[in-house]
Amino acid sequence: MSRCVFVLLDGLNAHTARRCMGYLLALEQAGHARYAQLSCELPPLSRPLYATLFSGLSPVEHGILHNDDVRICPTSTVFSRARDAGLVTAAAAWLWVSELCNAAPFVPARDRLTNAPSLPIAHGLFYSSDLYPDAELFCDANCLLAQHKPDILLVHCMGIDTTGHQHGVESRAYRDAVREADGLLARSLPNWLANGYTVLVTSDHGMDEDGMHNDTTDSVRRVPLWLIGCPQPLPEAQTQVANVLCRILDIG
Ligand SMILES: [Zn+2]
Repeated sequence: MSRCVFVLLDGLNAHTARRCMGYLLALEQAGHARYAQLSCELPPLSRPLYATLFSGLSPVEHGILHNDDVRICPTSTVFSRARDAGLVTAAAAWLWVSELCNAAPFVPARDRLTNAPSLPIAHGLFYSSDLYPDAELFCDANCLLAQHKPDILLVHCMGIDTTGHQHGVESRAYRDAVREADGLLARSLPNWLANGYTVLVTSDHGMDEDGMHNDTTDSVRRVPLWLIGCPQPLPEAQTQVANVLCRILDIG
């Protein structure tokens, strides 16, 4: 069993990741990270795919099929399974994660700072502006890690997705957002590994040249995944990510 940091870089497509994430490529070339390209499930929208990444079921199977379907994920998630196994869970994440895992709809005064061991995500810092800086989000995540020493920590930032919506996938701004995320990982990941964490980095969906991600182009569907610090087999589908996380945590 290992503890796990699960990094979800919202809206990162595989092509730009390969071009702009030099730190992660360096880890691969040194033999410390392994890479897989996955095809995201359909529809390629955030809330359905968060539920897929957390539960291991496709959107058609778990039933959350659009972004306005505000409710708790109707099936177990890696966080509820970890909670049930007595593990410590934490997340620095966009508010929809709180809605899928903890309580829906999101109530900022109640949910933004969560410390409730009975909930699937016991310790949470949930933000509600998609302009929330990724650098601040990584600070939030590292604060949760230091304070609670979680067995699983979700780090979920929106900067790449937001920039993609504003400028499209073929823009310098989008590439710069990806480069920034790579730099943030370079600043945090060595400390996570030194503290015994396995790290899984992936995204929910990619982005297209229209600044959207609700189509079936390769630019939208091809998403990257890295596994760093553990010998578990790489997932071959987005529906296998939850099981990989559970195997890292040794909870089935
Ligand atoms: Zn998304």
